[in-house]
Amino acid sequence: MESVAYSGKGRRALNPAHKRRVAIITALIYAAIIAACFLIARWVIGGLGERAVALVHDGDGAVHELPLDEDAELRVETSLGVNVIVVEDCAVRMAEADCPHGDCLRQHAISQPGEQIICLPHELWIEIAGDDADAGEMDTDAVVYDDDVDTVAR
Ligand SMILES: [Zn+2]
Repeated sequence: MESVAYSGKGRRALNPAHKRRVAIITALIYAAIIAACFLIARWVIGGLGERAVALVHDGDGAVHELPLDEDAELRVETSLGVNVIVVEDCAVRMAEADCPHGDCLRQHAISQPGEQIICLPHELWIEIAGDDADAGEMDTDAVVYDDDVDTVAR
């Protein structure tokens, strides 16, 4: 008798607790969904305003990242030579180089994805990160010079 009364009590006591647990789990699931939506929205909005970044590939195979919205100066010294790369006004340019012909110093400052600055003697090149097919490859055709004279050896 006693045990039956206990189990009956126990079941009655369990029901509200069980409901509460279901309510808490439901609330947690809703919270998780809302948090996920919030994160996805932030990710999408953040993706639209992604910062342009210049990637400097040096002769030793290292890659240096330079955000274009931050003025900066990067000195790259490898076994092949020294290059000084400057970020200014949301564009990147070669400021100094001790390569023999200084071709890289004559190249335009770059700011658009796909554009590159190449210092062939130092095997160093700068690209603006983008999703075009040539990204990550040295592309001499992407180089634009400040003047019309083309001194690149053919
Ligand atoms: Zn050079």
